[in-house]
Amino acid sequence: MFPELDVPVSAVRGVGAKREELLCEVGISTVADLLLFLPYRYVDRTRQSAIAALPAGAEVTAVASVRGGNVVPGRRPRFVLVLEDESGTLECVWFSGHRYLRRAFSSGDLLAVGGRLTRFGRKRQMVHPDVEVISDGEEGTRVHTGRVIPVYSTTARMKAERLTSRALRRVIYHALEEVRLPEPLPDPMRDRFGALSLGEAVRKLHFPDEMADVDAARRRLAFDELLYFQLRLRSLQAFQSEKSGPVLPAAGPLTEKMLGTLSFEPTGAQRRALTEIGEDMARARPMRRLLQGDVGSGKTLVATAAMLSAVDGGAQAALMAPTEILAEQHARTIRALAAPLGLVVALLTGRQPQRERREILQGLAWGRVQMVVGTHALLHEGVVFDRLGLAVVDEQHRFGVLQRAALLEKEGGAHLLVMTATPIPRSLALTLYGDLEATVLDELPPGRQPVKTGWRAAANRPNAYRFLQEQVSAGGQAYIVFPVIDDSGARDIRAAATAYEELRNGALSGLRLGLLHGRLPPAEKEAVMAAFRKGSLDVLVSTTVIEVGVDVPGATVMMVEHAERFGLAQLHQLRGRVGRGADVSYCILIADPDGDLSPDARARLDAMTATGDGFEIAEMDLKIRGPGQIFGTRQAGYPEFRFADLTRDVDLVRSAREEAAELLEKDPNLERHNALRRRVESVNLDGPPDRAG
Ligand code: ADP
Ligand code: MG
Repeated sequence: MFPELDVPVSAVRGVGAKREELLCEVGISTVADLLLFLPYRYVDRTRQSAIAALPAGAEVTAVASVRGGNVVPGRRPRFVLVLEDESGTLECVWFSGHRYLRRAFSSGDLLAVGGRLTRFGRKRQMVHPDVEVISDGEEGTRVHTGRVIPVYSTTARMKAERLTSRALRRVIYHALEEVRLPEPLPDPMRDRFGALSLGEAVRKLHFPDEMADVDAARRRLAFDELLYFQLRLRSLQAFQSEKSGPVLPAAGPLTEKMLGTLSFEPTGAQRRALTEIGEDMARARPMRRLLQGDVGSGKTLVATAAMLSAVDGGAQAALMAPTEILAEQHARTIRALAAPLGLVVALLTGRQPQRERREILQGLAWGRVQMVVGTHALLHEGVVFDRLGLAVVDEQHRFGVLQRAALLEKEGGAHLLVMTATPIPRSLALTLYGDLEATVLDELPPGRQPVKTGWRAAANRPNAYRFLQEQVSAGGQAYIVFPVIDDSGARDIRAAATAYEELRNGALSGLRLGLLHGRLPPAEKEAVMAAFRKGSLDVLVSTTVIEVGVDVPGATVMMVEHAERFGLAQLHQLRGRVGRGADVSYCILIADPDGDLSPDARARLDAMTATGDGFEIAEMDLKIRGPGQIFGTRQAGYPEFRFADLTRDVDLVRSAREEAAELLEKDPNLERHNALRRRVESVNLDGPPDRAG
C-alpha cells in the first residue's frame, strides 16, 4: 500500500540484524510492513494527575520524582521504587529484573510511569509499570505513558529476544518519526471527504491522541484502499469502455428455434432476464450484466439463449466455467440445443491433445466455430476470436476479477454476462463491478421441492447409509462428498478413495459406486461423470470437484462428510446438486460433534437446516463470519482489504467509486497525480488462488 516504503525494515532506528530477522519471521520485512502492523488493542493512559488524585483500578499516568528504591526480600523478592510529588507517594513494584532496575534510576530523577493503579489503604502501587525518564522537560517524546498506547502481539520467540510489545512500540514510534508518507489524494478530494492526511492517519493508527482517532484513521486508510482498487479496476477497463460492442438482435431465429425445442417452458424470471439481456446486446455500448440466481434456477438456459443471439447477429459466443467437469457439462448441454440448428460448439480445456486444440483455435480465429465452452484455457493468449460478440462467465465467484478483466481486455468491445449463484452483498458488487447491472432470477422452475436437510453425528453414519440404500432402491442416485483442503489435498483425496473402497465392499456393497476427484485422468473423469449422468452408477463418491454447477437431475441424496470443514456458501452449492428434478431430495451433513466442532461450524450446520434460500444463507454467512473475513479463503478471486470492511463501509465504497470516476475523467492516466499513480499500480487485484481437488 505504501510502495515508497518498500525498503528493508532495518532502515528504522533500533532495528538491527537480530530484530530484522525476528520481524521477518512474522512477515514484517519492509518499513511499509512495519507501519501496517497494527496494534491489536490500545491502552488509554491519557489520564494523568497528581498522585493523590489518581483513581484506583484504572490505567493512569503519573509524573513524579524518584525518592529511593531497594529490593525487599521475602518469599517473592521485589524491587520497590518510591516516587513522590507534592500530593503524595507512589510505589512501583517489580518481581523481576532487579539487577537492572537497581542501577537504572537515581534519586531526584523525574519519571513518567504508566500502568494500573492499586490501593492498599493509603498506599498507592503500580506493578510492573512502564517507565520513561523525563530529562529536561522533554515531555513531547513520551511513547509509553501519558497517552493512548498501542499494544502489539508478539511471538514467544520475539519475547524471548526482548522484542516485546513495548520494544516494538518504540521501534514503530521511531519509524513514524523518520518516514514521510507523501499525500496521494488531491487536496480538494481530501477536503470533500474531510479526511486526515495519510501520514496523520498512519500515525494515529498507532498513536491516537484519543480513542476516537482510531476509527477516523482506519476510515481514511479504508478509503485509500478502496480508491486505489477502483482506479486500478477502471484503468484496466478504461480503454475498452470507449469501444463500442457489436449490435446484436434481441431474439433472432436461432434463439427462437431453440426455445421452441425445449421440453419445458422458460420461467417468468428466465424470460425477464432474456429480455433485459436482449435489450443490452442490441445496443452499441458493451453490456456488463450480472445474472444472479440461486442454485438450480436455470442460468444455463439463459446463457445459451444469449449466446445464440450473438450467433444470430453474426458474432461468436464464449462461455467460461471454473472446472473442467462443468465446462464439459455445459458443452454437452449447449451442443444438444445448438447442434440441431447446425451450429458448431467447441470445448476448450487445458487438457486437449495439441492437434485438437490447434483445430479449435483455428476455427475460432477464422469464425468457423461459432460457440466455445471452456475453462481458464479460454483466457490463454493463443485464443483469438474472429468476432466475439458475447462472453459469459459462469460461477463468477470462483474466478478472479483480473481474469475476467483479462478476457475483456483481449476482446475489447464484446458484451459480457457474468453468472453467479452466490449472492454478492451490494457493497461488494459495487466495489468489484463498478457499473455492472444486475438481473436476478428470483424464481425456480416449477415443481421443485425444498431439499430436506439434516446434520448427523458420525456415529449415525450407518443409518445414513441405510437411508441412502432405500433411496437408491426407489430409483434415486446419491453423491457422497469428501472435503479437499488446500495443502492437505492429497490426504483428503485418499480419504475419498479409501472410503470408496470401504463402502464398495462394506456398507454399500451391492450398489454401483463410482469415484471422482481432480487427479483422475480427464478421460476417466469424463467416463465416471457420464456413467453417473446416465444412471449406470448409483452413488458417486467425490471430492469437491462437483461443488459447482453439476446438473444430474436424477440425483436425490447429497451426503457430505466432514461437513464442519466446509463454508456455508460451499455447503449451499453442494446441496444445490440435488433437488433439481421433481422428486423430493435430501441433504445429509455428517459432522462429528465430539471432534473440534467450533461454535461457528455448529452455526453453519444449523443455518443449513434452517433455510434453503441462497440469499438467507449468504446473510447468515455474513453474520457468522463477522466483518473482516467475509471474503475469506473460499471466495477465491475476491480482493482482501486490510482496512476496508465491505459490510460497514458501503458509504466509503460509494465515495471511492465516485471520486475514482471523476479523477479519471480529468486525468485518465493519473499523470498529474504521481504519488497516487504509484499506489494504484501496486494494487494486486487477484484474490487467493482457487484450488478445487
Ligand atoms: P443453475 O442456475 O444452478 O446453473 P441449471 O441451469 O443447471 O441451474 O438448471 C438446473 C436444471 O433445471 C437443469 O436440469 C435445467 O435443464 C432445468 N431447467 C432450467 N430451466 C427450467 C425450466 N424453465 N423448467 C424446468 N426445468 C428447467
Ligand atoms: Mg449453473
